[in-house]
Amino acid sequence: MPTPARSIATYIDGRPADRVIPFGSNSMQHGTAVFEGIRCYATPHGPAIFRLDDHLARLLGSARTLGIAHRYDHAALKAIVVGAARESGLADCYLRPVVFTPDPLLDINLAAREFTAAVEVWPAPTATPFAQEGARLTVSSWCRPSRRSLPSHVKATGTYVASAMARTAATEAGFHDALQLDPHSGRVAEATVANVFLVLGGRLHTPWPLDSLLPGITRDTVLRLARDLGVETSEGPVEVGDLYAAQEVFLTGTASELVPVAALDEHSFPGDRPTFRLLWEEYRATVTGRRPGRQGWLTPISADNPPPN
Ligand code: PMP
Repeated sequence: MPTPARSIATYIDGRPADRVIPFGSNSMQHGTAVFEGIRCYATPHGPAIFRLDDHLARLLGSARTLGIAHRYDHAALKAIVVGAARESGLADCYLRPVVFTPDPLLDINLAAREFTAAVEVWPAPTATPFAQEGARLTVSSWCRPSRRSLPSHVKATGTYVASAMARTAATEAGFHDALQLDPHSGRVAEATVANVFLVLGGRLHTPWPLDSLLPGITRDTVLRLARDLGVETSEGPVEVGDLYAAQEVFLTGTASELVPVAALDEHSFPGDRPTFRLLWEEYRATVTGRRPGRQGWLTPISADNPPPN
């Protein structure tokens, strides 16, 4: 995801803040923070955040799984994120709430730390440069972290070391990104910061969460849109070889939305992508508030229409 060099603003506990955290922060030293990546879109009814409640539920679930002690409930986090989006003045933006500890104490007992919610606001990521022609992927030799050591539904900062290693190696080798495998089964899990889908004989298929993937909110949205459009869907085991048999492969994530895959290592996929194009159109219409039946996924940020507390 290409992003501008700087976020436009940071808010800690709802108040504007600078971006500096103490060097000794346990979250910085040990990767012990949880976070979300969320998008706000310009819609015909004003700017609105897509699937905010689902992102916040995942954030609270991540904190709970790590055993982080914090003082925020769903409504408090919602007010903080909506407030940050509104303050930014941007209709289209990317919001990054993080629950982290500034405590400069090296003890790794998270229950003994004070955790704080901060939000960074970025101008919305522009379409990835390879979104049109499609991403070129390789299969990484770095697997996803095992679900047995770090549950994959958790979005913790430390987990991203494994993604960063895979992305770095892939980029250095001339690819846009990498697919990572489950460390136990050796099956396909996901890309470094996105889920993967394949189209096989008109059916949409995606790896199941048993193979150490983050069950993305975009993944869930795409599965639901596909079903509503009459496309058959399934989740299950995916071997690398299954991808070679696919007519279409694409990636999904909040920041990059839906990105077609042009090639996996030496293998190219056909360029017509009918299922991808159908789902991409429906996804864009949904997130930008142009599907009346799906307004429930959008939280308006205007002060006249505040979210319920
Ligand atoms: N997998 C990983 C590892 C990710 O970081 C992301 C981005 N959050 C995704 C999948 C896609 O998740 P979502 O659709 O919720 O953004």
